[in-house]
Amino acid sequence: MSLMVKQIPCLSDNYGYLLHDPVSGETVSIDSPDANAILTALEEENWHLTQIWNTHHHWDHAGGNAELVKKTGCIIIAPAGERDMIPGADRYVHEGDEVMLGDYNARVLETTGHTRGHICYVMDEQKKAFVGDTVFSMGCGRLFEGSAAQMWNSLSKLMALPDETLIYCAHEYTADNARFALTIEPENQDLLARVDAVKALRAKDRPTVPMSLGLEKRTNPFLRPDSPAIRHRLKAESADDEQVFAMIRALKDKF
Ligand SMILES: [Zn+2]
Repeated sequence: MSLMVKQIPCLSDNYGYLLHDPVSGETVSIDSPDANAILTALEEENWHLTQIWNTHHHWDHAGGNAELVKKTGCIIIAPAGERDMIPGADRYVHEGDEVMLGDYNARVLETTGHTRGHICYVMDEQKKAFVGDTVFSMGCGRLFEGSAAQMWNSLSKLMALPDETLIYCAHEYTADNARFALTIEPENQDLLARVDAVKALRAKDRPTVPMSLGLEKRTNPFLRPDSPAIRHRLKAESADDEQVFAMIRALKDKF
């Protein structure tokens, strides 16, 4: 029996994720956006929560920690860079640290930019990445506590993963992101096809997440600062990738 993933739509547009290892019986919640929704999902599956893996300190990611610990006795793993914002965790992790779910392991990537200590959890063998608010379907996280340079460095780490990697982000922002992406690269045929696919999914109220890294690299403007068409549109032919990324991020902030 292999790793199971349960996706939990909660709050207005968040996704929680439960990872369950049937062999050890361990269950991890990626973040804790909504304790009640997570407890209900655990009950539905008859799973017992043993760990929370936090990506960053925002309330819609760590706000359910205390309640879940109280109800389940789970442990909390949190980013070392946000120790003061997520007090009381059992372990604080850095880039390259490994966390375990039964015999499955995930590697910690430091992906600052959205917040100053944001991390992602990458399961290399399962080709899954739990990315919090770093990259979204056709979008990327806002720069609340970090710089464009930091975020570009973080996205570059994720882009180095295999194209088949499934990206599990924490929000359903896809339809909105698609409208913006079309203003940046309207001639991108992969993007146009994807926008249609997204419309069809959302019309049936179905999630557009997770998505493959390969598809993101072809359609997400924030991962495409090297696109000649984008550079031409932004009159940034001689800029470097980080500068073009910063321009796209600034445009999205005003969109
Ligand atoms: Zn956030």
